Amino acid sequence: MTAKLFVISGPSGAGKTSILQKLFQRRFIRSNFLKGISYTTRQKRPGETSGRDYYFVSKPVFLRLKKEKFFLETQKVLEHYYGTAYRTYKKALRQKKGLIICIDVKGGKYLKKSFKKDRMVSVFIVPPRAKELYRRLAKRGETKETIGKRVRLAEKEMKYLRFYDYVVINDKIKESVDNLEAILRAEQLRRGK
Ligand code: 5GP
Repeated sequence: MTAKLFVISGPSGAGKTSILQKLFQRRFIRSNFLKGISYTTRQKRPGETSGRDYYFVSKPVFLRLKKEKFFLETQKVLEHYYGTAYRTYKKALRQKKGLIICIDVKGGKYLKKSFKKDRMVSVFIVPPRAKELYRRLAKRGETKETIGKRVRLAEKEMKYLRFYDYVVINDKIKESVDNLEAILRAEQLRRGK
């Protein structure tokens, strides 16, 4: 198998994190793919662990790493910085595994420009209805103000759907995980050019 970059995006609250968690419980996925852990300057949410969900770092540390060209890509989402480390991608290359990263739409668009067409696959995950998105965000225990900001951002993010190769509508989680796995399997079986 050849290593490829798999970019997963979608509006906040679409269910990306839950889908990826379930996806990595599957043996085929664990054997053939790595999950990229991003760096972020945002606060840890309840239940999140550094090194598993993100590497939580301060803004000065993040900016220093960025200056040192530590990142494959970085973006500012709302008021926080997020970035994918170069070394994660290199690790996937070394192990001949696909790298799955969950990043925002601007990061996705940037990588699409910098990667060769046959080296990157992008998947957009959407919630079935706008109301569902609000409900999922509200469940995270964030303030009304943050939820409002995220809902407005989600509306903007939906406009990026057309830049993605595949769309998964996250209605029933098991079906979404099955669909994503089908995409990953097929893409890894694609004949190299
Ligand atoms: P959250 O704060 O909800 O965990 O993430 C906010 C947004 O940042 C999500 O769309 C998430 O996919 C995105 N994100 C997480 N890590 C990265 C990254 O390394 N790069 C970019 N560009 N976006 C990221």
